[in-house]
Amino acid sequence: MEEEFALVDRKLQKIVFAMEAVMDALYEKTLVITSVYRDNYRSNHYYYRAVDIRSSDLTHEQCMDMTRALNLIFPYGKAAYETVLYHNAGSGWHFHVQIKAENDGKRKLPEKLGRNYRENKNASGMEV
Ligand SMILES: [Zn+2]
Repeated sequence: MEEEFALVDRKLQKIVFAMEAVMDALYEKTLVITSVYRDNYRSNHYYYRAVDIRSSDLTHEQCMDMTRALNLIFPYGKAAYETVLYHNAGSGWHFHVQIKAENDGKRKLPEKLGRNYRENKNASGMEV
C-alpha cells in the first residue's frame, strides 16, 4: 500500500497528510489507507487521484465532522463533487478522498495508465 500511495497525485497526498494530522489531533487515531489503485477507468482510483481510508476507528458523528471540516478547507472544485466522501458503497463505511483531474493530458501518469487516460476525460459520472 505504501508503494501505491507513493504514486498518488502529490496534491492528494497532502490532503491525506492533513487528514492524518486532524484525525490524530482530534481523536488520537491513526489514519489507515485501505485502498489506492482500482482497475476501473471510470474511478478516480484508476488515476491515483483517490484513496480509501478506514473510518471504523471513529464514530459516525466524528466521521461526519471530519468530512465536513475537510471539505470546507479542500473544496473539490467541481459542482456536485466533494473531496471527502464518507459512505458505504457496498463494501462497508469508509472515507473516499479524491481530487479532480488537472492539466488534463499534461500530468505524467504511471506508464500503464496512459492508454486509457483520454478515454476517461470524456466519461461522465466518475465512480467512487
Ligand atoms: Zn474510494
